[in-house]
Amino acid sequence: MSKLDISVVIPLYNEEESLPELVEWIKKVMDTHGYTYEIIMVNDGSTDRSWEIINQLAKENQHIKGLSFLRNYGKSAALNVGFREATGTVVITMDADLQDSPDEIPGLFKMIVEEGYDLVSGWKKKRYDPITKTIPSKLFNYTTRVMSGIKLHDFNCGLKAYKNKVVKTVEVNGEMHRYIPVIAKWEGFRKIGEKTVQHRARKYGMTKFGLERFIYGFLDLLSISFVTRFRKKPMHFFGTLGSLSFLAGFIMALYLIGEKLYYIHVLNQLPRRDIVEQPLFFLALVALIVGAQLFLAGFMAEMTSLNHPNRNDYHIEDRCGRAQTPELERT
Ligand code: UDP
Ligand code: MG
Repeated sequence: MSKLDISVVIPLYNEEESLPELVEWIKKVMDTHGYTYEIIMVNDGSTDRSWEIINQLAKENQHIKGLSFLRNYGKSAALNVGFREATGTVVITMDADLQDSPDEIPGLFKMIVEEGYDLVSGWKKKRYDPITKTIPSKLFNYTTRVMSGIKLHDFNCGLKAYKNKVVKTVEVNGEMHRYIPVIAKWEGFRKIGEKTVQHRARKYGMTKFGLERFIYGFLDLLSISFVTRFRKKPMHFFGTLGSLSFLAGFIMALYLIGEKLYYIHVLNQLPRRDIVEQPLFFLALVALIVGAQLFLAGFMAEMTSLNHPNRNDYHIEDRCGRAQTPELERT
């Protein structure tokens, strides 16, 4: 079976009104351009009639693959499942609420296939969202840009296109869908681009994210930056900090002892203050204890990761010569 051109992955939570219109529109674009495609609709535990409607749509359109969660796991989980399922050469994600326009698909497809981008993120240059969303979003994008070094204006745009192998490599959960470009970069996909896309006001229903998105989003950025760098080597992080702290404590302690000995043996007098009366003593104590604790934390994490079945999971990009496996030749 030849590979499909495009997989469209759509995470959705209570979007019953938008679905028929969305599918109709995607179909029109695909047919006009003659793409072979599939539409993967991931129902994230909707409590309205979304799943019924997807079933109905799937009967009329054989390009639709519907998947349904028993409960609401979140957009990242829905995307992750869609990614595992996607078979197209190019994978395009899109929100279900008609805020993203399917007319952008051909442009995104070209950037991946012809210009060789690994990932192209939509940029809603002109947004139709309330101000309570646009201002925090600017701040979020600025922070992420600085932390990741990726020059994107709009990290969290739902409309994105990927090479198939990117979605098979990137794993998202929690609120991490906001950082897919960051994760992709850390996995080694360098060619990350941006395309200005049309944005529209939400036609039906309302946003599915509240203000907590900003708190969770920020915490997830911290865990991603931490996990991607130190997952395989936690000791490098904790061990370094621990050793530094311990060393600092040790030097302070040496100084305190040295000072006391100096008074007694060289100046032949009692020190002005006893060791335990000096602030430095407590600082040294804390530094020593914290250092030992951090070191231990690193050691424990290292032991845990040693036992992890995925500890030596590295993504092999390519093979040649006798390293060619029969499975790889077939794909
Ligand atoms: N969504 C989801 N699970 C959730 C929340 C949202 O699958 O728990 C979907 C939602 O149905 C939509 C997309 O994620 O297709 C973007 O959500 P929304 O439009 O509410 O976000 P906003 O545009 O306000 O950032
Ligand atoms: Mg939306």
